[in-house]
Amino acid sequence: MTTSVRDLVGPDDLAGAHGLVDQHGRVATDLRVSLTDRCNLRCTYCMPPEGLNWLPTSQILTDDEINRLVRIGVEELGINEIRFTGGEPLIRPGLVEIVRTAKSLSPPPEVSLTTNAIGLERLARPLADAGLDRINVSLDTLDKLQFKQLTHRDRIDDVLAGLVAAKAAGLIPVKVNAVLMRGLNEDPVPLLEFCLEHDFELRYIEQMPLDAQHEWKRDQMITAEEILEKLQAAVVLTPDPAHRGSAPAETWLVNGGPAKVGIIASVTRAFCGTCDRTRLTADGQIRNCLFAREESDLRTALRDGSSDDVIADRWRAATWTKLPGHGIDDPTFLQPVRPMSAIGG
Ligand code: SAM
Ligand code: SF4
Repeated sequence: MTTSVRDLVGPDDLAGAHGLVDQHGRVATDLRVSLTDRCNLRCTYCMPPEGLNWLPTSQILTDDEINRLVRIGVEELGINEIRFTGGEPLIRPGLVEIVRTAKSLSPPPEVSLTTNAIGLERLARPLADAGLDRINVSLDTLDKLQFKQLTHRDRIDDVLAGLVAAKAAGLIPVKVNAVLMRGLNEDPVPLLEFCLEHDFELRYIEQMPLDAQHEWKRDQMITAEEILEKLQAAVVLTPDPAHRGSAPAETWLVNGGPAKVGIIASVTRAFCGTCDRTRLTADGQIRNCLFAREESDLRTALRDGSSDDVIADRWRAATWTKLPGHGIDDPTFLQPVRPMSAIGG
């Protein structure tokens, strides 16, 4: 007879449990790894134009330290999906080898990347050859001027070249992530038309209170409902019959399919009950949620000679304390201290 996660009563009992389970019965199998908190764009919903105080290099995990934690996650803790992110993961020099090492684990996890695509034109092929399975490119507008206003950099041509290169390298379906902002890029239709034309799968993400400037306002954000209404004025959307599982995006078939569009309604239609994520920051902290206000330090254990078993047990204990939900709608909600770029989105 197998032991139900719900029969466990506390972290001490976790010695008998293999994976990353929490006291609400969820199991984390999807690891998000932030490879750096630095970035070459300054997206308004993420960080201020002048950038941030970056983490000191001495605190950033080395490639070997990342590889070790990824191996422990996969081989000891049941992680079967890994997404590398940041900050901007393409600016980490060791990225291709980190991907290759992750794909060489047994059993090999699904490995994906979330990126702003600057530099992807050069890196798409090496990443695909290293075993990268999938890629999500963030692009919020097709308008050059709007892109510059939104990101404070004139780099849309690099992003578009990166998208083309990703498709040519076989990283398909290429997914495009977009955040809409009031007064800037409010119309979701042009991006959808672009993605339909190029066979990219578009997903809109509701803007979340994770900007370093703490300027997010609930009554200003463009909701999933508003996006849907605007899309439905241009195309016919029908609910996607594919099983959603723990996927954060709710998807629709466009004009009968097979093309799809998705919306990640993290704020207005929270999906915390099916969350299967665990997060590792670039400086070696485990977070249970984007919105967590607590972290568990694995960097010290990595650097003080702790065994894999000790590190795995710390990771299990951290997961056990995962809260049932992010509580954005709770009057006591407080934005996390770390901004999105330092957590890894
Ligand atoms: N730099 C890479 C990129 O932009 O794809 C990876 C890191 S970025 C933090 C990951 C994703 O988070 C991007 O798709 C970005 O649009 C999204 N993001 C950043 N800040 C956000 C916010 N406040 N609300 C919603 N999504 C956000
Ligand atoms: Fe950089 Fe990504 Fe944040 Fe934009 S969303 S500033 S690309 S980390």
